[in-house]
Amino acid sequence: MMTPKPIPIATGDTQEFWNACDEERLVYQQCSACDAVQTFPRASCAACGDSALTWKESAGFGTVLSFTEVHRGPSLAFKPDQPYLLGIVQMNEGFRLMTNIRGCAATVDMPVRIAFEPRGDQGRLVPVAESMTSD
Ligand SMILES: [Zn+2]
Repeated sequence: MMTPKPIPIATGDTQEFWNACDEERLVYQQCSACDAVQTFPRASCAACGDSALTWKESAGFGTVLSFTEVHRGPSLAFKPDQPYLLGIVQMNEGFRLMTNIRGCAATVDMPVRIAFEPRGDQGRLVPVAESMTSD
């Protein structure tokens, strides 16, 4: 039997992030002390260490900063998808998101939007980037 793809477990600091994904919203944190933005969520600001973080909602648009083509995923469950693209997206709000890129073609600086796709039996939604010029 094939091992299923891992399903994100929402705990502590990441609960709010995954709850928003389930509603097809991408959220990020902004530091009240230094205005730095970040995701995935942490208990404190990665830039200054302050714990005064507020949640903001992203419009879901950005550009590909870098990407890699994955020919061997972390488990056999990823085999039907291979090769697939794993990228870092520079979001318009200033934070960076590591995510899969749909389709088999990407270029640096390619404009993308964030979509959500279900993973696992419970339908947990995970963010995925897709090209804005492909449809
Ligand atoms: Zn800060």
